[in-house]
Amino acid sequence: YTEEEQTEDYLFKIVLVGDSAVGKSNLLARFARDEFYPNSKSTIGVEFQTQKMDINGKEVKAQICDTAGQERFRAVTSAYYRGAVGALLVYDISRRQTFDSIGRWLNELHTHSDMSVVTILVGNKSDLKDAREISTAEGNTLAEAQGLFFIETSALDSSNVAAAFQTVVRDIYNILS
Ligand code: GDP
Ligand code: MG
Repeated sequence: YTEEEQTEDYLFKIVLVGDSAVGKSNLLARFARDEFYPNSKSTIGVEFQTQKMDINGKEVKAQICDTAGQERFRAVTSAYYRGAVGALLVYDISRRQTFDSIGRWLNELHTHSDMSVVTILVGNKSDLKDAREISTAEGNTLAEAQGLFFIETSALDSSNVAAAFQTVVRDIYNILS
Protein backbone atom coordinates (compact mmCIF):
# COMPACT_ATOMS: atom_id res chain seq x y z
CA TYR A 1 0.00 0.00 0.00
CA THR A 2 1.02 3.54 -0.61
CA GLU A 3 0.49 5.92 2.23
CA GLU A 4 -2.49 7.38 0.44
CA GLU A 5 -4.29 4.06 0.13
CA GLN A 6 -3.94 3.42 3.83
CA THR A 7 -5.92 6.46 4.87
CA GLU A 8 -9.58 5.66 5.23
CA ASP A 9 -11.75 7.64 2.91
CA TYR A 10 -14.93 8.99 4.41
CA LEU A 11 -17.33 11.06 2.30
CA PHE A 12 -20.46 12.22 4.06
CA LYS A 13 -23.28 13.94 2.20
CA ILE A 14 -24.74 16.82 4.19
CA VAL A 15 -27.76 18.83 3.03
CA LEU A 16 -28.73 22.41 3.84
CA VAL A 17 -32.48 22.77 4.35
CA GLY A 18 -34.76 25.65 5.29
CA ASP A 19 -36.77 28.57 3.93
CA SER A 20 -35.46 30.95 1.33
CA ALA A 21 -33.10 33.69 2.56
CA VAL A 22 -32.34 32.19 5.99
CA GLY A 23 -28.66 32.15 5.04
CA LYS A 24 -28.01 28.59 3.84
CA SER A 25 -25.74 29.61 0.96
CA ASN A 26 -23.84 32.08 3.12
CA LEU A 27 -23.27 29.49 5.85
CA LEU A 28 -21.68 27.26 3.23
CA ALA A 29 -19.72 30.17 1.70
CA ARG A 30 -18.43 31.17 5.13
CA PHE A 31 -17.52 27.63 6.12
CA ALA A 32 -15.92 26.47 2.88
CA ARG A 33 -14.37 29.68 1.54
CA ASP A 34 -14.60 32.21 4.41
CA GLU A 35 -16.71 34.46 2.21
CA PHE A 36 -19.91 36.40 2.86
CA TYR A 37 -22.34 38.02 0.43
CA PRO A 38 -24.22 40.96 2.03
CA ASN A 39 -26.89 41.12 -0.64
CA SER A 40 -26.92 37.65 -2.05
CA LYS A 41 -29.75 36.42 -4.16
CA SER A 42 -30.48 32.75 -4.62
CA THR A 43 -28.09 32.72 -7.58
CA ILE A 44 -24.93 32.50 -5.47
CA GLY A 45 -25.69 28.91 -4.49
CA VAL A 46 -23.26 26.25 -5.57
CA GLU A 47 -24.61 22.77 -6.15
CA PHE A 48 -22.27 21.30 -3.59
CA GLN A 49 -18.89 21.91 -2.03
CA THR A 50 -16.58 19.19 -0.83
CA GLN A 51 -14.81 20.17 2.34
CA LYS A 52 -12.01 18.31 4.08
CA MET A 53 -12.37 18.22 7.83
CA ASP A 54 -10.26 16.84 10.64
CA ILE A 55 -12.26 14.68 13.05
CA ASN A 56 -10.32 13.03 15.88
CA GLY A 57 -7.16 13.22 13.78
CA LYS A 58 -8.82 11.53 10.80
CA GLU A 59 -9.42 13.25 7.49
CA VAL A 60 -13.10 13.25 6.69
CA LYS A 61 -14.69 14.75 3.58
CA ALA A 62 -18.07 16.39 3.77
CA GLN A 63 -19.99 16.91 0.56
CA ILE A 64 -22.21 19.81 1.54
CA CYS A 65 -25.18 20.34 -0.77
CA ASP A 66 -26.91 23.67 -1.26
CA THR A 67 -30.14 24.39 -3.07
CA ALA A 68 -30.14 26.71 -6.07
CA GLY A 69 -33.01 28.64 -4.55
CA GLN A 70 -35.70 26.13 -5.56
CA GLU A 71 -37.00 26.07 -1.96
CA ARG A 72 -38.85 29.26 -2.86
CA PHE A 73 -41.06 27.13 -5.08
CA ARG A 74 -41.29 24.20 -2.65
CA ALA A 75 -39.64 22.14 -5.34
CA VAL A 76 -36.62 20.64 -3.64
CA THR A 77 -36.45 17.23 -5.26
CA SER A 78 -35.91 13.86 -3.66
CA ALA A 79 -32.55 13.64 -5.47
CA TYR A 80 -31.34 16.49 -3.30
CA TYR A 81 -31.88 14.44 -0.15
CA ARG A 82 -30.83 11.05 -1.51
CA GLY A 83 -27.94 9.51 0.36
CA ALA A 84 -27.70 12.32 2.90
CA VAL A 85 -26.34 11.26 6.27
CA GLY A 86 -26.45 14.73 7.80
CA ALA A 87 -28.58 17.85 7.60
CA LEU A 88 -28.50 21.46 8.75
CA LEU A 89 -32.07 22.63 9.27
CA VAL A 90 -31.76 26.40 9.12
CA TYR A 91 -34.08 29.23 10.23
CA ASP A 92 -33.52 32.96 10.66
CA ILE A 93 -33.75 34.11 14.30
CA SER A 94 -35.18 37.43 13.08
CA ARG A 95 -38.09 35.90 11.11
CA ARG A 96 -40.62 33.76 12.97
CA GLN A 97 -42.10 32.44 9.75
CA THR A 98 -38.86 30.63 8.98
CA PHE A 99 -38.96 28.98 12.43
CA ASP A 100 -42.58 27.94 11.90
CA SER A 101 -41.51 26.18 8.69
CA ILE A 102 -39.03 23.90 10.46
CA GLY A 103 -41.60 21.15 11.11
CA ARG A 104 -42.43 21.02 7.43
CA TRP A 105 -38.76 20.82 6.42
CA LEU A 106 -38.19 18.08 8.98
CA ASN A 107 -41.07 16.09 7.46
CA GLU A 108 -39.65 16.54 4.00
CA LEU A 109 -36.21 15.48 5.19
CA HIS A 110 -37.61 12.33 6.78
CA THR A 111 -39.74 11.56 3.73
CA HIS A 112 -36.77 11.63 1.38
CA SER A 113 -33.91 10.37 3.53
CA ASP A 114 -33.23 7.93 6.28
CA MET A 115 -34.80 8.67 9.69
CA SER A 116 -31.33 8.35 11.20
CA VAL A 117 -29.91 11.35 9.29
CA VAL A 118 -27.90 13.37 11.83
CA THR A 119 -29.65 16.72 12.04
CA ILE A 120 -28.80 20.03 13.67
CA LEU A 121 -31.29 22.86 14.06
CA VAL A 122 -29.49 26.09 13.18
CA GLY A 123 -30.75 29.52 14.22
CA ASN A 124 -28.81 31.76 11.83
CA LYS A 125 -28.26 35.55 11.85
CA SER A 126 -27.49 35.68 15.59
CA ASP A 127 -25.80 39.02 14.88
CA LEU A 128 -29.24 40.61 14.36
CA LYS A 129 -29.76 41.06 18.09
CA ASP A 130 -32.26 43.91 17.90
CA ALA A 131 -34.43 42.10 15.37
CA ARG A 132 -34.57 38.76 17.18
CA GLU A 133 -37.99 37.06 17.11
CA ILE A 134 -36.99 33.58 18.30
CA SER A 135 -35.25 33.26 21.65
CA THR A 136 -32.41 30.83 22.14
CA ALA A 137 -34.57 28.96 24.66
CA GLU A 138 -37.34 28.51 22.11
CA GLY A 139 -34.93 27.10 19.55
CA ASN A 140 -33.47 24.79 22.13
CA THR A 141 -36.90 23.54 23.20
CA LEU A 142 -37.85 22.62 19.63
CA ALA A 143 -34.53 20.88 19.08
CA GLU A 144 -34.92 18.83 22.27
CA ALA A 145 -38.50 17.87 21.39
CA GLN A 146 -37.38 16.65 17.96
CA GLY A 147 -34.13 15.05 19.11
CA LEU A 148 -31.92 17.44 17.14
CA PHE A 149 -28.66 19.13 17.92
CA PHE A 150 -29.02 22.90 18.27
CA ILE A 151 -26.79 25.88 17.60
CA GLU A 152 -27.10 29.57 16.79
CA THR A 153 -24.81 30.91 14.08
CA SER A 154 -23.94 34.03 12.16
CA ALA A 155 -22.61 33.70 8.64
CA LEU A 156 -21.97 37.45 8.81
CA ASP A 157 -19.66 37.49 11.86
CA SER A 158 -18.66 33.79 11.52
CA SER A 159 -19.76 32.77 14.99
CA ASN A 160 -20.41 29.03 15.38
CA VAL A 161 -20.43 28.39 11.63
CA ALA A 162 -17.65 25.81 11.68
CA ALA A 163 -19.07 24.33 14.90
CA ALA A 164 -22.44 23.74 13.24
CA PHE A 165 -20.91 21.66 10.42
CA GLN A 166 -18.42 19.95 12.73
CA THR A 167 -21.11 18.86 15.19
CA VAL A 168 -22.93 16.98 12.43
CA VAL A 169 -19.85 15.48 10.82
CA ARG A 170 -18.35 14.41 14.16
CA ASP A 171 -21.58 12.66 15.18
CA ILE A 172 -21.82 10.83 11.83
CA TYR A 173 -18.18 9.80 12.16
CA ASN A 174 -18.74 8.50 15.70
CA ILE A 175 -21.78 6.49 14.60
CA LEU A 176 -20.02 4.93 11.61
CA SER A 177 -16.62 4.25 13.14
P1 GDP B 1 -30.50 31.21 1.40
O1 GDP B 1 -31.60 31.58 0.47
O2 GDP B 1 -31.01 30.44 2.59
O3 GDP B 1 -29.37 30.51 0.72
O4 GDP B 1 -29.92 32.58 2.02
P2 GDP B 1 -28.62 33.42 1.56
O5 GDP B 1 -27.39 32.77 2.03
O6 GDP B 1 -28.71 33.74 0.11
O7 GDP B 1 -28.82 34.76 2.44
C1 GDP B 1 -29.98 35.55 2.30
C2 GDP B 1 -29.68 36.97 2.81
O8 GDP B 1 -29.40 36.93 4.21
C3 GDP B 1 -28.46 37.60 2.14
O9 GDP B 1 -28.74 38.98 1.94
C4 GDP B 1 -27.35 37.42 3.15
O10 GDP B 1 -26.38 38.41 3.08
C5 GDP B 1 -28.11 37.48 4.47
N1 GDP B 1 -27.47 36.69 5.54
C6 GDP B 1 -27.09 35.40 5.48
N2 GDP B 1 -26.56 35.00 6.64
C7 GDP B 1 -26.61 36.07 7.47
C8 GDP B 1 -26.21 36.30 8.82
O11 GDP B 1 -25.71 35.42 9.53
N3 GDP B 1 -26.44 37.54 9.34
C9 GDP B 1 -27.03 38.53 8.60
N4 GDP B 1 -27.20 39.72 9.19
N5 GDP B 1 -27.40 38.36 7.32
C10 GDP B 1 -27.20 37.15 6.76
MG1 MG C 1 -29.26 29.82 -1.22
